[in-house]
Amino acid sequence: MQWTGEASAQPDTLQVAQPEFKLDAAPLLPGCECYACQNHTRGYVHHLLDAQEMLARTLLECHNTHHMQLFMQAARAAISQGSFASFQRALTAHDAEMSPVRGPV
Ligand SMILES: [Zn+2]
Repeated sequence: MQWTGEASAQPDTLQVAQPEFKLDAAPLLPGCECYACQNHTRGYVHHLLDAQEMLARTLLECHNTHHMQLFMQAARAAISQGSFASFQRALTAHDAEMSPVRGPV
């Protein structure tokens, strides 16, 4: 995912390499507690991608890994609470709801 300049974000995947993020002072995902979001902006990551700096991929991987870890924590919590089926239904409903607005990957 990080190789194309994408960052995991809710409700959709953010295409940070797109020109509209060039001057964006927001973190990759507002409220995210990962190192990349706490210390860098979408505009900076966009610049790094544009300049083909390796740090862009590192920051995106940091954010995406953090995002995936939170997802897996929620899945494990649902399993341990015996509510994984409803967790899965919520994910499926979210995916069906979001698929028409997803941009090209
Ligand atoms: Zn983040």
